[in-house]
Amino acid sequence: MTDSCIFCKIISGEAKATVVYRDEQVIAFRDIHPVAPTHILIVPNKHVESVSTLESEDEPLIGHLFTVASQLANEEGISKGGYRLITNTGVDGGQTVPHLHLHLIGGRRMRYPMG
Ligand code: 5GP
Ligand code: ZN
Repeated sequence: MTDSCIFCKIISGEAKATVVYRDEQVIAFRDIHPVAPTHILIVPNKHVESVSTLESEDEPLIGHLFTVASQLANEEGISKGGYRLITNTGVDGGQTVPHLHLHLIGGRRMRYPMG
């Protein structure tokens, strides 16, 4: 828990969010500014700043984020059509909340190229 971190506040219940899934390792909630019909953030309960600060002991946690993403995509009905998973990292990567998270975005055709 980091006092100033909005995602830590959502995890602790101090801040509200539309939570769609939670377990002992992760929480998933709808993005406050969705960019597609489905836009869910999958977030470790543990405060990890970004991919840049991951340690080898975090490998099972990262695997779990993807498994939960797959499960939620099924529940949202977007698995067949496809979807995009994004983890912005650091300032140049466009990360605005410094608590690692996976964006699950789908329900419309994604544009390409990215960036
Ligand atoms: P980033 O830019 O760090 O990759 O993504 C942060 C995401 O968190 C953004 O898409 C933003 O809309 C979302 N976000 C920021 N603050 C809140 C909040 O208080 N509640 C929710 N549900 N989403 C938030
Ligand atoms: Zn945090």
